[in-house]
Amino acid sequence: MKADCIFCKVVAGQIPAAIVKRGDGMLAFKDINPQAPTHLLVIPTTHVASLDDAADPQVLGALLAFARDLARELGIAAGGYRVVVNTNDDGGQTVHHLHLHLLGGRFMTWPPG
Ligand code: AMP
Ligand code: ZN
Repeated sequence: MKADCIFCKVVAGQIPAAIVKRGDGMLAFKDINPQAPTHLLVIPTTHVASLDDAADPQVLGALLAFARDLARELGIAAGGYRVVVNTNDDGGQTVHHLHLHLLGGRFMTWPPG
């Protein structure tokens, strides 16, 4: 756990969060500022700062599969959804604990802003 990391605090239960699913070293919870009817964050429970810092490709694959399975369980897979990994400053990353945004429940435009 990184002491000043808000997502590590969510993992530790020190910050309340609407947790949707947990397991296998991962956690999914509702984004506090949702940008779509479904907007979840999927994180590894062990601190990794960003996609750029993720050394273990197995963790990345597991996170992606976790988000994919969650989308099915939530009933948004057939309609479609988007997974976003903002990375470092130009990528718009504001919380420096690796997270996948799982967005669904509405049509997504392209390109992103
Ligand atoms: P990013 O800009 O990709 O780093 O995304 C960080 C996301 O974390 C934003 O969408 C925030 O709304 C969300 N967020 C920040 N703090 C919390 C929190 N305590 N609980 C849930 N989501 C949060
Ligand atoms: Zn962290």
